[in-house]
Amino acid sequence: MSRRTLTVDDALYRYLLEHSLREHPAQAALRAATATHPHAGMQISPEQGQFMALLVKLLGARRAIEVGVFTGYSALTVALALPDDGRLLACDINDEYTRVGQPYWEQAGVANKIELRLAPARTTLDARLAAGEAGRYDFAFIDADKTGYDAYYECCLELLRAGGLIAIDNTLWGGKVAHPAADDDADTAALQALNAKLHDDQRIDLSLLPIGDGLTLARKR
Ligand code: SAM
Ligand code: CA
Repeated sequence: MSRRTLTVDDALYRYLLEHSLREHPAQAALRAATATHPHAGMQISPEQGQFMALLVKLLGARRAIEVGVFTGYSALTVALALPDDGRLLACDINDEYTRVGQPYWEQAGVANKIELRLAPARTTLDARLAAGEAGRYDFAFIDADKTGYDAYYECCLELLRAGGLIAIDNTLWGGKVAHPAADDDADTAALQALNAKLHDDQRIDLSLLPIGDGLTLARKR
């Protein structure tokens, strides 16, 4: 067996960013603006964003979905990777959070690609399915309330075309998924149940990557 994933200490992390990160100025500015937010830790890391942008380009994605926008860094990153006629359906329930990102979407010239729906994501995704949009999307990123993940996964799987990709964030959950969940820890239990379900799910090709807080990639067969 070759080496397991490296432990990335601060010096190595700095090196990784210095030698790979290519942010648009609007991404850097939005990240700086979010850094002082009390929930700044909810934002994906820039290298994870850049990796997701690469996936979006490799897929040739035109239509994407995001479940969980927060201040809009991941949405900005995906939108920048979409072609000019690409569209991102961005789902969140919090206007206060999402309002932070919108000037940066404008600054990057991608605001026209992002359709922000402020409603429970289930409502938005179910409406798209009811409107006959099954099979019409190429990429989805799921990063919202953990107990909702299974439902978001099922909706996104229907909305995606064969060959489309779902990226699911926080699937290692700070390491907690590897230990029995406390009775009152519904988030850990939900992630454990979803990880177990995906492992056996023959509708997808699967990889769980130890990037960030764990990123699961599920390619629709
Ligand atoms: N992807 C974002 C980023 O990288 O900056 C972080 C998203 S943050 C972890 C989770 C978001 O999910 C919050 O903005 C929260 O308002 C949203 N959220 C929570 N419950 C939701 C629901 N039922 N439907 C849609 N969004 C929800
Ligand atoms: Ca996350």
